[in-house]
Amino acid sequence: MGETKEEGWGFPALSKKAHYFVGSRSLCNRWLFFGNLEGDDETSSDDCTTCTRQLAKRKAAKEKAA
Ligand SMILES: [Zn+2]
Repeated sequence: MGETKEEGWGFPALSKKAHYFVGSRSLCNRWLFFGNLEGDDETSSDDCTTCTRQLAKRKAAKEKAA
């Protein structure tokens, strides 16, 4: 088995936008995804705005904790 990322951007087949997944659930809570995930620096204009906002919050919280 290859290396599996715990979190990252995924593009569910039925979604028109990319969502950010942690585990297998999107940050906007609308999607489950079990495919390959891209790193969190792989952003594009097709990203879900809710996921983008939640990801920014997560990063801010991590930086605070560090
Ligand atoms: Zn989303």
